[in-house]
Formats: sequence, C-alpha cells, structure tokens
Amino acid sequence: MSEFKPVRFVDVALEGQFWRERLETVLTRTIPSQHVQLGKQGVLLSLTLPNQSLPLSVPGNEHDSGQVLWDSDAGKWIEAASYALSHRRDPDIEAWIENIVDDLEKAQAPDGYLNCWYLQREPDKRWTNLRDNHELYNLGHLLEGGIAYFLATGRRRLLDILERYVDHVCKTFGPNPGQKRGYCGHQEIELALVKLYRLTGDRMHLDLAAYFMNERGRQPHYFDQEAVARGEHPRDFRAKRYEYNQSHRPVREQTKVVGHAVRAMYMLSAMADLAAELNDDSLKKACEVLWADVISSKIYITSGLGPAAANEGFTEDHDLPNDTAYAETCASVGLIFWAHRMLHLELDGRYADVLEQALFNGALTGLSRDGERYFYSNPLESDGRRSRWAWHSCPCCTMNSSRLIASIGGYFVSASENAIAFHLYGGVSTNIQLATGNVFLRETSAYPFFGSIRIEVSPDAPAEFTINLRIPGWAHEAEASVGGCAVDVTACTRNGYLAISRLWNAGDTIALELPISPERIYAHPSVKQDIGRVALKRGPLVYCVEEVDNPGGAVQQLKLPRDARIETVERGDLFDGVVTLTASAERIEDQEWGDSLYRNAPPIVSGCRLTALPYYLWNNRAKGSMQVWLLES
Ligand SMILES: [Zn+2]
Repeated sequence: MSEFKPVRFVDVALEGQFWRERLETVLTRTIPSQHVQLGKQGVLLSLTLPNQSLPLSVPGNEHDSGQVLWDSDAGKWIEAASYALSHRRDPDIEAWIENIVDDLEKAQAPDGYLNCWYLQREPDKRWTNLRDNHELYNLGHLLEGGIAYFLATGRRRLLDILERYVDHVCKTFGPNPGQKRGYCGHQEIELALVKLYRLTGDRMHLDLAAYFMNERGRQPHYFDQEAVARGEHPRDFRAKRYEYNQSHRPVREQTKVVGHAVRAMYMLSAMADLAAELNDDSLKKACEVLWADVISSKIYITSGLGPAAANEGFTEDHDLPNDTAYAETCASVGLIFWAHRMLHLELDGRYADVLEQALFNGALTGLSRDGERYFYSNPLESDGRRSRWAWHSCPCCTMNSSRLIASIGGYFVSASENAIAFHLYGGVSTNIQLATGNVFLRETSAYPFFGSIRIEVSPDAPAEFTINLRIPGWAHEAEASVGGCAVDVTACTRNGYLAISRLWNAGDTIALELPISPERIYAHPSVKQDIGRVALKRGPLVYCVEEVDNPGGAVQQLKLPRDARIETVERGDLFDGVVTLTASAERIEDQEWGDSLYRNAPPIVSGCRLTALPYYLWNNRAKGSMQVWLLES
C-alpha cells in the first residue's frame, strides 16, 4: 500500500485561472441556485415531519418517483455547501443548512432512525426493502454532508444526529441473532462510514463498512429473503438481475464491472478505501482486476461510463454508442473518487491519467458555464436536440458536480513523510508538513491548455526529500530542470511519476515542460460505432465539433482527411480563453440533393474549415449538432 495521503482541499489554494473561475461559479451561483431548486421541487419540505400537506406522492408510483432519494439530495447539497463554507463562511448558506438540521433533528425517531420518506409514510416498514429503497444510501450522503459541515464550521449537531442514526444501524445490522444480514441496494454507506471512521477513529464505523461490503452477494441472498418476507417473488423487480446492483456474487469474486455504473463506482471507491484501512490485499486485487476490465473495454474516450439508459449502466464489452450514450455525470464523478483512492493504494500514473480524463471531460461537462444547468447523461454526439437541464427529477448529478468542484483542490497533491506528489497542475499553492519540516509549494501554469509548469519549492530550512511530478501518459518527451539544471526525465520516471530527490533550499524552482499538441485518437475496431472515425485530443482535453462553430448543416456531415494538419488557435474571446483546433476538412453537401431519399450519384463533397472545441464546453452557446468521433476521409 502507498504511503501517500491526499493533501486536503482546504489546504490547497487555487490560484490558476481555470479552476478559480469554476470554483467561483460554483460558490456564487451553483450552490445557492441548488438550494432554490431543492425548495421548489419539494425536497426541503419533505424533511419537515410530520407534515400532512406534503404534495409529494405520485399515486401508485411512490418508490419510482425519486422521492425515496430526497434525503440524499439534501445530504449532498449540505456537503457541497459545506465545502463552499470551507473556502469562505456565508451566513445565508449556514442558515439554510441549520434549517435542514432543525428539521432532521425533529424528524429523528427516538431510537435514532432517520429516513424522512419512511417516517412520513410507512414508519413500520423501515428496513423491509433494502434492495430498492435506499435507506442506507440516504444515510451515507447525509453522513458525508454532516462530516463536511462539521469540518467546515466546527458545528456538530448534524453529525451527532447522524452518529445516533449510525448507532441504530450498528444495532440493526450484523451477524448476531435478531440482526439483519442486509446491505444497501445502492452502495454509498460504505464509503461514508470509512469517512466517519477517519474522523472519529471509532473502529465500529470501519467494521460496519467492511461488514456491508463482505455481506454483498453472499448466499442465501439477502434481497431474495427480504422479497419473500414482503410476499413478493425475488425476481419481481425492475432490474430482474442482481448484476444491476453488483450483488450477484461476493465482491472479491467479481471480475467484470457490471450493472448500474454509479453504484459500481461508489462500491469500488469503498473497496479501495477498505483495502487501504484494513491492509486487505484481496480487496486491492479485486479493485485492480475490475479497473483493468473498465479501462480495457468499457470507458468512453470522455471517461463516460455506462452506455445504456435501461440499467443506467454497463452492457457488453466495446459497446460504446455515441448518440445514445448514457454516461451519467455521477458515474464519471464516481470514477474520479475511485481513481483517487487507487492512486493512494499505489502511486501509479495510470490512475491519475484516468482521474484527469474523467475530470476534464466526463465530469466538467455536467455543469454549464453559468453554473446553473446540468447534463445527466453525456452523449458524444447530438443531433441538436440535447441541452442541459435547469434541474432534473432525480438531481443526483447536480450536487455531484458541485461537491466535486467545491473540493477540487484535494485532488492535486499528496504527501508522505518525506515525499510530495503532484497529480494535477493548474496553479495551486500549499504548505506541506514533512518529517523534515514545513515546505511551501507554489505551482504555476496555464494547464490544461498549456504545459509549461513551474514549481517553487521553499522548505523552512534546507531539507532532503522527494518531489514526484506526474508525467501524463499523453505527454511524450517531457523535459524538466531544477534551478536550470536538466533532469533526466526518462531515467527518473517510474510508474508515470518523475521523482526528484535532493537537498531543497528555499526558492528552488522546478521547470516542467509537458508538450501539449493535438492528437488523433482511434478506437479499438471492436467499437463498431467508431470504425472509420477519429477523435481529437489535446493534452487531457477531448475535443468535439459543434454546429455553432461549423455552420452549414449538421456536423455529422463533416469529414476530416487523415493527412489534414491540425492547428491550435488561442481564443481569448471565447469562454475567458480557450484553445480551439482547426483543420481543412470536407463537408458532405445536402443542399443539391433534392427530395429523393436515395440516388445513384454519390453526394457532392466540398472543402471547408473545421473548428473543434473542448468537449466539456459544448452546449453553452447556440443549440446545434455536436460530434466527438468524426468521419475520417
Ligand atoms: Zn447522477
């Protein structure tokens, strides 16, 4: 297991323009507007119990209306809002959180149980349908919110409420007589309990997380037993198969990532957490096997996961349709959580490469430039009818975007006793306490658009330690120097990290040059949707063509010649400054085609100029068609 631990986001100052802009947007627009939406949609009202006037039920469809998830939405918003408070206190946000805490305190049952959906409607049926009704999932998100709020403000009333609930769960679940041997249909509680353990040091919290993980998929199957107890046939549920929630077999025996993508990512994140905390090699090995499965056959170039809407998840290997891609934003955020944890089991650039790919493409796309509109699914092609939602009936992705960006500083740097590792670049500063003393670090760059990186290293007193710099997998022939003296990058790089060990003095500087140039990317021929197509990438950013930059018809009619030179253009006028790509291309004309659907003569092709934009920025201007995988001629 790795010695490295992440440097907390509160200890990392974002100084670069790219992330400061996103963070400010989330703090000033996204988090307040999400609170308004939670009010409008009835989520906040659903926490005020007892309440006879709740206009909440969809008759005959209560379980599928999304309302069983609403406690989790409140929890995720509190978590995101608390991260915002860690950057700067805000009396309005704190008052809004306190109101929710008041409601939760009143709603809590004397024995500690706290699920507003059940308490309002069917208090005697609690814990009777763990497969579908998300009680432990809701607790997990509330718990993450309570922990974040405590760490941001020192207020522990919400945490106390939730610890009482956790105590109740500890009594309810376990192997002893009278206890339930269950676990949640939607993983989340496991990683939240590990977070709680890291805060409390109470072994009971870690053991409960491990218990839920170890019970998953065991026979006799708990979900069968509880279905029979409800008088139902075990297979009479929406998903029909336990692959859907990854309970088809014990987690250590799983070799393929299957089912609902977000559940899978949360489970794998918790498996990596437990592997680290318990020094459990079997869990680490299972994570590595499942990682290899995802990366070799199931991940979109944008890092989207789960092509199918039917199960919000995985299908067959190499099934990666572009226009119908589900690729839920939450799944890419979950992949970031998992990759970050894998990186702390083993410092390996493979994990950081995927983390970065998911961050700049799959996750950032989920939030609009103005910070108030969201993609739930993230197709790689659109006929022009897709656009971000102002809100979603199941708003899981909205707060996954805000909690990720509000805590983004926590993904940049890690430290061990005598070493520091940079995973991401983009302009940060931090103080790190090593065994040899405090070190101030300032990384300056215009990443991800440019690869010139400068790092100032200032220990309080001269000291020997190692600085590891991630050399991204896409960066060929990187160069580095310390104080002007060249470093042999090839010789000193291991597992994707350039290690520089020396005696450091205040004011030492590292210069790292990561060549960022446009690349053509091709997909494995088994991905039938991408045959004959090419995608454009530059550094960590995947590009797309959008109709607003390529007028004249649908962008699906564009073809990029294989020998066309791809040029970069700095566009200071666009989105506060981006780099676009342009190339000579061809357009299949439809103007002269006429009314017939088919004809003998091939279409006329004319020359044009193609412009491509980073994928995460699409659909922020005029509506129109979009495509990542271009026809190649
Ligand atoms: Zn979601």
